[in-house]
Amino acid sequence: MMRYLHFTLWGALLLAFSCAPKQTLFEDGRSEYSIVVGEDATLIEQYAAQELQTWIREVSGAELPLVADAQPGKRLILTCEEPEGRDDAFVYANDGGDIRFTGKGPRGTLYAVYAFLENELGCRWYSAKVSVAPRRDSWSFRKLHCQEAPGIRIRDNCYLDPRTKPVFSARLRNNFVRIPSPDGEGTIPGSAEGYWGVHALGTHVPVGKYFKTHPEYFCLRDGKRYGGYGQPCLSNPEVLAITIESVRKVMLEEPDYLIYSVEQNDNQLFCQCEDCQALSQMYGGESGVMIWFVNQVADAVREEFPDKFIGTFAYQYTRHAPTGIRPRENVVVRLCSIECCLMHGYDECEQNQSFLQDLREWGEIAPHLYIWDYVTDFAQYCVPVANWKTLQPHIRDFRDNHAIGILEEGDYQTVSCELREMRTWLLSKLMWNPDADMDALILDFTDGYYGPAGRYIRDYLDLEERILRRPGVHGNCYVHPSDSMFTDEFIQEGRRIFADAKEAVAGQQDLYNRVETAEMPLCFLQMVKNPLLGFQEGADDLVRRVVEREGMSRLAEGAWAGGMMSAKELLAYYEQIREEIDKGIVLPAVAVNPTEKGVEYVRYEGDFMSTAEMLDRGTEVERGTASYIGLTEAQEKDHFGYVYKGWLEASKEGLYQFRITSDDGTVLLLDGKPVLDLDGSHSPVSAFCFVRLEKGFHSFELRYFEDCEGQILEGSLMGPAEPLVPLCDWKLYH
Ligand SMILES: [Zn+2]
Ligand SMILES: [Zn+2]
Repeated sequence: MMRYLHFTLWGALLLAFSCAPKQTLFEDGRSEYSIVVGEDATLIEQYAAQELQTWIREVSGAELPLVADAQPGKRLILTCEEPEGRDDAFVYANDGGDIRFTGKGPRGTLYAVYAFLENELGCRWYSAKVSVAPRRDSWSFRKLHCQEAPGIRIRDNCYLDPRTKPVFSARLRNNFVRIPSPDGEGTIPGSAEGYWGVHALGTHVPVGKYFKTHPEYFCLRDGKRYGGYGQPCLSNPEVLAITIESVRKVMLEEPDYLIYSVEQNDNQLFCQCEDCQALSQMYGGESGVMIWFVNQVADAVREEFPDKFIGTFAYQYTRHAPTGIRPRENVVVRLCSIECCLMHGYDECEQNQSFLQDLREWGEIAPHLYIWDYVTDFAQYCVPVANWKTLQPHIRDFRDNHAIGILEEGDYQTVSCELREMRTWLLSKLMWNPDADMDALILDFTDGYYGPAGRYIRDYLDLEERILRRPGVHGNCYVHPSDSMFTDEFIQEGRRIFADAKEAVAGQQDLYNRVETAEMPLCFLQMVKNPLLGFQEGADDLVRRVVEREGMSRLAEGAWAGGMMSAKELLAYYEQIREEIDKGIVLPAVAVNPTEKGVEYVRYEGDFMSTAEMLDRGTEVERGTASYIGLTEAQEKDHFGYVYKGWLEASKEGLYQFRITSDDGTVLLLDGKPVLDLDGSHSPVSAFCFVRLEKGFHSFELRYFEDCEGQILEGSLMGPAEPLVPLCDWKLYH
């Protein structure tokens, strides 16, 4: 019976759909339809109508007129009628031949248009430069109905393009930046959502304005009021009154924002006065004092600004959730994920436990959180980040803990982030719908943006998954390009995949360029890890082409994380090592014929700061032969050194690249000449040298010493006949 009923229902539904008469929007470049925007239409409705007109023309060749009214049955009607749901929610549906696009403010109607163009006509806005509008001879429909609401209310996609190109940004349904108004002057009112200010407490209560007359407004530190950049004294009622007045003024003068910052200044100098500390005692720490203060600001503006929020930070000394107090309904708490491991889910990685705990504790007491999330590498923007499998679960965790907004921080200063177009697109889709089908999105983007090379881009993502996310490997947003997670296998296998990808789009210049841009991070890594191979395989040329074509000038957020800052410097560095290679010393072979494999060594002990000091006054404690060069665990950890001597065999004449990483100092001599000098007491450093060797034997001497703390002696060699050989496998004889 149930089965019968089931079939009957399905039958009825199918019948209903198939019986609806077929409506044709356009055919053979012509359309009988008009786009209807009422005379009282808002600017955003007018803008949505223009976008609809533009993209239907791109797809069909037909120009639909924009009119105030038209004959029923052939209308595309744009209205802003506030359907159920949250801000920006929308419905598009047909009513006979008419299609209605109805949205809730501020941008619902516009998003209804974009959703229609994407779902029904196949339009895509993959990047700021690449839009797809598939040409169609005709398009018809019987029944249309699509209803959506954003999963995250404020979607701040902080890559350069969505941050600086508002038209593109709106097409991806990000809503942090404003859309230019149709007359080209200013922006469409009401289209900006987001945050006014950051660390704004100092703006509300400026130390320069008040400290002289009212030092008691500012933090008490070690018994004295502090007149530098500290925090205000939050328990002082006049500080509260000044803050409320200042916030009100900003809210009146700049009404387009959703959240207004009353966030702590960017330092940890909170007030130690008796009243502040009593509050801290009462509410479980400094975050409790802050919430106590911010709640009062929020209470004071609630009636006058019922739809707005007051923002505060859970950051540094206010990071942990308070006890015995909850943020008000109109307070937003901003939490930052900067120390997290990007490569794993919050609940599956040891390094993320502290953030997860804060997220959950705040999520439990705060009606609204705002997450400042880091999704790319900030030591060097182009470093591959294997976080494709965690973007979605992270966003879901934010949503499930009441995130009203997310800032996804990417390469906001430049365009050099790995696969930035795909990251930008995916993050926009996921912030709109955290439950979207991620595999389908990746398939859509890779095939749509890279064409026939799309499947190879997916192979590359699989390679990242297999090698970068291998067990035991973690990465926060400051992974350096020399990190050991980027193995030679990863780089070589990756470049092989990209060779196939480029072959798949040979002759299609636009697609080819996009694939080259995607390969640039691997070439960058190869030039860091193994420049000789990089030169042989054209890695430097590819980096140069991409840097110039994409207009990359900046390669890292700042100098503090040790990455290469400017593209100009990088290219100059490539030139410099190329010159070194070209002029490389040529060493003639020595007429010897050693047959015993391995090296002779002398072990020293003593307190020295360089290999020269070791030879001068180290105590010789051991002498012998070893089958390979390398430090063994069993030896003592500090104040020792070795001199290894033997013969290195060059199996073919040509250029050899030597690379040594050492802690502390190393000097490498070939045929008596120092060719690599890393002497002195220091933490691990790496260096290369390039030497031309005649075929045959060359005398070899490596001096190494360890002062104190960590010790490392590693190396690699690459020659014309051999791939990369680790130090322990060099062909040495004595
Ligand atoms: Zn105080
Ligand atoms: Zn991890």
